[in-house]
Amino acid sequence: MIPPVTQPNVTHTLFPVRSKENFLIFGAPAIEEAEILEVVSTMNSGWLGTGPKVARFEQEFASYKHAKYAIAVNSCTAALHLSLLAAGVKPGDEVITTPLTFCATVNAIIHAGAIPILADVDPRTQNIDPNEIVKHITPRTRAIVPVHMAGRPCDMDAIMQIATDHDIKVIEDCAHAIETEYKGRKAGTIGDFGCFSFYVTKNIVTGEGGMVTARSEDDVSRLRVLALHGMSKDAWKRFSDEGYKHYQVVECGFKYNMMDLQAAIGIHQLHRIEAYWKRREEVWNLYNAAFADLPITLPVESEPDTRHGYHLYTILIDPERANISRDQFLDAMTAHNIGIGVHYLSIPEHPYYQRTFGWKPDQYPNAMEFGRQTASLPLSARLSDQDVQDVISAVRQILASSR
Ligand SMILES: *Cc1c(COP(=O)(O)O)cnc(C)c1O
Repeated sequence: MIPPVTQPNVTHTLFPVRSKENFLIFGAPAIEEAEILEVVSTMNSGWLGTGPKVARFEQEFASYKHAKYAIAVNSCTAALHLSLLAAGVKPGDEVITTPLTFCATVNAIIHAGAIPILADVDPRTQNIDPNEIVKHITPRTRAIVPVHMAGRPCDMDAIMQIATDHDIKVIEDCAHAIETEYKGRKAGTIGDFGCFSFYVTKNIVTGEGGMVTARSEDDVSRLRVLALHGMSKDAWKRFSDEGYKHYQVVECGFKYNMMDLQAAIGIHQLHRIEAYWKRREEVWNLYNAAFADLPITLPVESEPDTRHGYHLYTILIDPERANISRDQFLDAMTAHNIGIGVHYLSIPEHPYYQRTFGWKPDQYPNAMEFGRQTASLPLSARLSDQDVQDVISAVRQILASSR
């Protein structure tokens, strides 16, 4: 008897590319001796909290980004929240963002008291589509939060034009995009604010950590006050050897400051940011070459006059074409002991947002499609040549056995 045609069970008769003990962790950071020593020396100095190392990290980050100001915080989520408040977003205001992002982008908008409004992504680039933004502008729109998805810059000329036309602020979510450039300008310095993440899977890491870049001095003062309880002087100046200074609480702020312990890691990571980027570009090109003949969609070419941040290498698995579902592919990669990511199920797939805003995934069809087909392969500066070959072998084997 001929068995009915079903999706092949690819995990069944498989010789794993790697051993279990050697599981390739998705997004494992590269940590080197310099930051380990710096953390130890910070411990020995006794100054663990916000202090001179944070100040140095802020200066060096601003200089890398060609930004006037950079303020270190304890996450990109905090950076987004503070930027929205500093942008003057008030309860009941509307803020437009993308449905294809990490939940933190939308949650920050909600925490600022605003109503998140989603604008679908471009079916090619995965970035928010300016034509969709325009459709959602109302008299209550106060800000746009574009996300440079996977490290690919958004269409910032179009977005800034919309912002100018409607007198609204732009807060760039640069969690994937520290190295990203758009027409000669650095991501995060084009809008009013740029928000960065140093979470463990990001391009450079501090464990937990984030940074805000801002253009106006007023915004910077507000961000600094908001990031530390709403106090008018920050703690390390307060307790310095210049003598005790009284602080004043000038508004109800947050506890979002970065520690010197984190900056100790960040300073050395930042020194290697370009070397890490080059390595990820190398891996990116190896993947492109190795997968060119497979029945999957590879990342589209970078737009002219832009620099991709190469944060995520995302392939799209269309079950019709690949003869395997995305989730089967994820399981098969795991069975090969290779870690894999999904960036992201679209925001309206999650029950909280459905319940609260009545969103349905098919209202944002492009984001929904990407979310249901996307898989991110390991892309970290830490990958050895052997790791890369293992990823390639696993992907090829899975897709070959599905045909
Ligand atoms: C990781 C991430 C964030 C949140 O960063 P944290 O530093 O973990 O708060 C926000 N937006 C996007 C797009 C992200 O990938």
